[in-house]
Amino acid sequence: MEFSCSPDVGSLEVRIASSLLETVCERIEENNYEITDEDIAVLYDVFGTDLEKSFELIEKKSFELVTVGNTARTYIVVNGSSGIYTLYPYVNFCQCCAYKMSITKKKPFICKHILGSRLAIAMKKCKSRTSPNFVYHNMSDNNVL
Ligand SMILES: [Zn+2]
Repeated sequence: MEFSCSPDVGSLEVRIASSLLETVCERIEENNYEITDEDIAVLYDVFGTDLEKSFELIEKKSFELVTVGNTARTYIVVNGSSGIYTLYPYVNFCQCCAYKMSITKKKPFICKHILGSRLAIAMKKCKSRTSPNFVYHNMSDNNVL
């Protein structure tokens, strides 16, 4: 089955959640890259257990920001529990099953990988490296489904 972005992806709910997340990320950066308990509570109201899962991924140092060669192009590699995913900064799209399910149900959401990657960058808990080339990872790299 082919999954693709549709105009429905930008639902109002996702846009509100996304702008809330960006606001919290800005506050984290202003607060010496620390997240306050208040902001954790705000995010928990919206993201629930996905927030806990995204913090687990951050603690496991699962996010890596990769800069391609001498360009300004970046992408994010996530070492998830069931595979390695490639994400793009500020793009609400993920290859994980939870995200794909949300698209098929026409209920797009922000998965723990997208959530975790934004928080990891804001909190400077994202590893970073440069790569001479763009390397696209998807779940089939690991043969785990
Ligand atoms: Zn995901």
